[in-house]
Amino acid sequence: MYPAAMRTLSASAATKVLEREPPGGKVLESIASPQIEFRDVTKKYGAVTALTELSLSVRRGEFLTILGPSGSGKTTALMLLAGFEAPTNGDILISGRSVAAVPSYGRDQGIVFQNYALFPHLTVNRNLEFPLEMRGVKAGQRIGLVERMLKRVHLEEFGERLPSQLSGGQQQRVALARALIADPPILLLDEPLGALDRNLREQMQGEIKSLHREFGKTTICVTHDQEEALTLSDRIIVMRGGRIEQADTPEALYDRPANRFVANFLGEANILDSSALGEQQNVAPGTVSMIRPERVRISQANAAPLSDQDQRHCVNGTVEDTTYAGPLRKYQVRVGSLSIIVREHVASGQQIFRIGDAVRLDWLRADVRLLTA
Ligand code: ADP
Ligand code: MG
Repeated sequence: MYPAAMRTLSASAATKVLEREPPGGKVLESIASPQIEFRDVTKKYGAVTALTELSLSVRRGEFLTILGPSGSGKTTALMLLAGFEAPTNGDILISGRSVAAVPSYGRDQGIVFQNYALFPHLTVNRNLEFPLEMRGVKAGQRIGLVERMLKRVHLEEFGERLPSQLSGGQQQRVALARALIADPPILLLDEPLGALDRNLREQMQGEIKSLHREFGKTTICVTHDQEEALTLSDRIIVMRGGRIEQADTPEALYDRPANRFVANFLGEANILDSSALGEQQNVAPGTVSMIRPERVRISQANAAPLSDQDQRHCVNGTVEDTTYAGPLRKYQVRVGSLSIIVREHVASGQQIFRIGDAVRLDWLRADVRLLTA
């Protein structure tokens, strides 16, 4: 999948083109300018356009996630940045300089792939030594650096094992350690936790977060997992069909999605129509109203109104389905032609509704978001 993946690890000191100051050498300017920049980058594979005029800036030290469904162009963006593929049009800059002429091994980036790509015939120690060796670090120094890094990822006992003698999570820790050990300024992660089961994935998310806090590398992470994106990122780019749908902080994307696709991709969304909104609220053509399931309150159909009732929109419905998932309870409520999803935290003493129960749903008008359809 990544034909040249291994070559990236072999960046030699001689190819550290990118660390020099740009001509004119204004240090302050180079700190303020983005560390990574895509300028109108288009990538075509024959008749397939994988990316269309992608423009994107990444700050030094930022953790940026590219999120999107399969086939949306995420890996392509990373391959172009890593230098394994060349743009059809447009340019990519690192520290303000075009990297069009810089081969992958000269870009000084640490890379972690979903399939780990460790050298299977080398021990963990040797896997970690490799990037150091390629950069001309002396043997005596290498051992100390490897020991320290292994300790950092809690694998100090595993240096003499082969990758095949490690669990998936341990292998992924080695891959992270190997990407970081030569201290590259940029870290690229492609679905790094995709092969791990849920608990391990959460644990490794914590590990990646803490490595980012500690090492402060400019990180671009590619994933189709919304939870991973929300957990890890300073900023998320949501992609569809080779284009950016929206780019913002996790909070802003969740709270103010620009359109229906983003609303549905990040979390669950109730799209409302006039049957739920009543006649008094009109939605402009080309837009829809959206309310998040956790913003909907469910109560008995004949419950006494609460004090904030005048700020709420209220509808009656019937419980169609209910699911219990750990700390959350989910209801599906039929309201006219709509099925509205409600999520609430399970608290003790809280009333539980059953299928067929007549209920009232209400939500703050201020929590309704208008989206382009
Ligand atoms: P993602 O990582 O978001 O799943 P990719 O960047 O791998 O998406 O792919 C984007 C689009 O480009 C897809 O339609 C995919 O089939 C196509 N594509 C990717 N790599 C190649 C290739 N080497 N040759 C032809 N088409 C490709
Ligand atoms: Mg991919």
